[in-house]
Amino acid sequence: MRLGIFGGSFDPVHYGHLLLAECCREALALDEVWLVPAAQPPHKQDRRLAPGKARLEMLELALADHDQIQPSAVELSRGGVSYTVDTLEAIRQQRPEAELFLLLGADSLRDLPNWRQPQRILELAVPAAVRRSGSPELDYGVLAGLVPPAQLESIRQLQVEMPLIDLSSTELRRRARLGLSLRFRTPRAVEEYIRTHGLYRDAPE
Ligand code: ATP
Repeated sequence: MRLGIFGGSFDPVHYGHLLLAECCREALALDEVWLVPAAQPPHKQDRRLAPGKARLEMLELALADHDQIQPSAVELSRGGVSYTVDTLEAIRQQRPEAELFLLLGADSLRDLPNWRQPQRILELAVPAAVRRSGSPELDYGVLAGLVPPAQLESIRQLQVEMPLIDLSSTELRRRARLGLSLRFRTPRAVEEYIRTHGLYRDAPE
């Protein structure tokens, strides 16, 4: 059982997130991918997120028709600041048979050495970094102090390529605030959820 874990705020989920998950599922032959919305991301503690329930429900809507990719409420149920190391420990307990792959965008790869217990993270899960086409080569040197050279090389081999989808949740929130279209930026059901629940009407600029 090969299980991919992809963490984020998902405030809201958009096609960049979904395509990243699908590209990793395919390239790494993952049996399942879990999208894990953070209760409170450590690096965004100064920003108010939409309620966890809403972010989870939007993920459920976005993933309703995919058999292998699903949301996980592990961080929302735990509450508090969401540290990846705690999440991986919990998932390992829950699914001891699974080989865990931690899916990382370029920004997350760069930042990983600053996360809580990065060495333990790399014991619990294999990091798989994603490069968007046309963007700079990924710098695996950031992991050099954390894993031996042979392991670093095998991590490099796992790199996943995806098309560049120039979307961000920030941009979706901005568009929602201004009443602009979200069509084709996120699944239709998510777009409708945002509208009917009046989400992001007062999102900061
Ligand atoms: P925000 O704009 O609120 O900072 P975001 O769009 O970056 O949010 P997050 O939920 O923080 O979304 O994203 C989790 C991870 O998803 C990020 O670390 C990033 O690596 C990846 N990601 C975000 N947008 C894209 C995209 N358009 N294409 C590929 N990966 C993305």
